[in-house]
Amino acid sequence: MENNYYPFENLPLKYEFSALEPFIDAKTMELHHNRHLQTYIDNLNKIISENPCLENFSLPRLIKMSNKMPKNISTDVRNNAGGVYNHRFFFDILTPKGKLPCDEMIKELNRCFGSFDNFKVEFKKAALSVFGSGYAWLVYCNGRLKIMTTKNQNCPLEQSLCPILAIDVWEHAYYLKHYNKRADYIDDWFNVVDWSAVKNNLDECKYIKF
Ligand code: MN
Repeated sequence: MENNYYPFENLPLKYEFSALEPFIDAKTMELHHNRHLQTYIDNLNKIISENPCLENFSLPRLIKMSNKMPKNISTDVRNNAGGVYNHRFFFDILTPKGKLPCDEMIKELNRCFGSFDNFKVEFKKAALSVFGSGYAWLVYCNGRLKIMTTKNQNCPLEQSLCPILAIDVWEHAYYLKHYNKRADYIDDWFNVVDWSAVKNNLDECKYIKF
């Protein structure tokens, strides 16, 4: 991930806001990136400018350390460093040219979930199970893929789990187009997943010590 250290910037997406139409609409993408993510970036920069001892920690390190920080900044760091990391992660595994996973990825999904279709069923179930705001994730853990959910802007990195894939199920991620129908958003989202980016994440997780 670029720009991994303070000061954080809102890097442009690698595709146009409209590129994921008709599955995710341009206005949602624009507001999600330019306002929601921007707010987390601004908040995180402000926290670090007021606590210069945090300046030299990378974004993942800030998340992993947040629970050990003094109470008055712990929640703010977790929410805002999480908000930056999670959104960048979510945007990075989307593409207008959604393809199927490569053979090696399919093999891994088959091994852990029986089949690609069953993985999709299980992942959708998890994403629907998030009460209120949060994310569903595919993570790499002890040599296997695992589906999990987090609340708010919590991140698997806090539990030293290595993220491979994420869907943001905060209402701001889908409400303009899908209204309250999270299930329809999840179905549409599957069409724009960048499986080659997901495979890269898996390879990194296998070789980076967590
Ligand atoms: Mn979001």
